[in-house]
Amino acid sequence: MKITVGVSARHIHLSEGDLATLFGQGYQLKPERYLSIATQYISKERLKIKGPKGEIGNVAVIGPPRPQTQVEISRTDGFTIGINPPIRLSGDLEGSASATLVGPAGELLLKQGVIVAMRHIHMTERDAQELGFQHKDFAMVVVKGRRSLVFDYVVVRISPDNTHTEIHIDTDEANTADLRTGDEAELLHINDKKVRLEQLINMLDDRQLRILEQSLSSIIAEEKRRVAVMEDILKLVVK
Ligand SMILES: [Zn+2]
Repeated sequence: MKITVGVSARHIHLSEGDLATLFGQGYQLKPERYLSIATQYISKERLKIKGPKGEIGNVAVIGPPRPQTQVEISRTDGFTIGINPPIRLSGDLEGSASATLVGPAGELLLKQGVIVAMRHIHMTERDAQELGFQHKDFAMVVVKGRRSLVFDYVVVRISPDNTHTEIHIDTDEANTADLRTGDEAELLHINDKKVRLEQLINMLDDRQLRILEQSLSSIIAEEKRRVAVMEDILKLVVK
């Protein structure tokens, strides 16, 4: 099944308290553009993220405010500012990385809250039922083209709020597969290894099939040699 790709650039979710610290008491975020999950928006406000080795400016703030402040950056951003955030699902912040946020009204040292977002699929209940996925299952998504690859371990998040099924990846993942927001990728249907394998093989072109055939043949030949050696040893032992 074809699904839409959404590329998440680095962004920040703020708690009410941290919003006040960074922008001033009683400050309200101003929506600039609503996102595919229509309750959320990119605000006009921007912040700077500082780490031990550098800083990144002009980082978008996503509204509305949330219970916990959460900073989502790419692995590359982490190298730029000198921190190593864990790959986590949104909201799972215990023991995540630290950084400083700089706003027009003040600075804020976050002891934790910086993550590299784990890739995920927002799935409609209808698609989940049709394709056989449960909430928090892992899916595989295949990307074709000169940077073709398979995204495995894509967490499925099913919610009645989802109006369509969409994979969310960060900018490092998007660049690796040469994807942009609005592109399409192929979601493998069923959370069953054998079926997934058959679907994968069906998607390979002749060159890829030849390479797979060669590697499988050499693996089988090597295994046969190993079995022969063990059989010889067994004969000696049994004697
Ligand atoms: Zn998402």
